[in-house]
Amino acid sequence: MSISENIVRVRGELPAGVELVAVSKGHPAAAVREAYTAGQRVFGENRPQEMAAKHTELPADVRWHQIGHLQTNKVKLIVPFVEMIHSVDSARLAAEISRQATAAGRTIDCLFEIRIAREETKHGWEIQELETWLAQRPPLPAIRWRGLMGIATNTDDEGVVAQEFAHLARMLPTLRKAGGFGAEFDTLSIGMSDDYPLAIAAGSTMVRIGSAIFGARK
Ligand SMILES: *Cc1c(COP(=O)(O)O)cnc(C)c1O
Repeated sequence: MSISENIVRVRGELPAGVELVAVSKGHPAAAVREAYTAGQRVFGENRPQEMAAKHTELPADVRWHQIGHLQTNKVKLIVPFVEMIHSVDSARLAAEISRQATAAGRTIDCLFEIRIAREETKHGWEIQELETWLAQRPPLPAIRWRGLMGIATNTDDEGVVAQEFAHLARMLPTLRKAGGFGAEFDTLSIGMSDDYPLAIAAGSTMVRIGSAIFGARK
């Protein structure tokens, strides 16, 4: 199936209120343009240089989301235009985003990436660590905290994945309260090509789907 057919099919599977982030990492700007023509506006990337290059090639109403681990020295490449950063996984990164966004005169929507998978390689906060930081965090005026992001364990065991998603969904109101956030702390970014139906069942408000739209990456 073509990219535009995939966009239509995936959109048809999403309940109202679930935002589709089309993950275009590893695919050329032409592929993004095809999805754009099919009506898609929100795109996810994990390499700042790649996002910045595509940003210059595509129409200005594309909404770019950083979904992968972000190094502090790369923040400045995307701060002028990025709409949301899903992968805020440390206090140091949060401080740098706020510093750069202040300098750019912007406020950026951010999610806390929470480590929900058993795998060692995954980035993200432990719940306890985040609660501790929230209790004594410095003011970061250029960040608007919007919610949580998580990546489930890469396994065929749907029970494990469903449990990890349910855990993160329960943490959304808990951490909203712990951080003193308001109703805008409402985003649950869970669900990828292989597990988005489970994420939707758990209450996802934002799915990040790459290969099911653009095909396999090299
Ligand atoms: C690559 C990536 C995705 C999309 O993965 P697919 O399996 O291709 O849908 C989603 N989230 C993050 C953080 C990613 O790095």
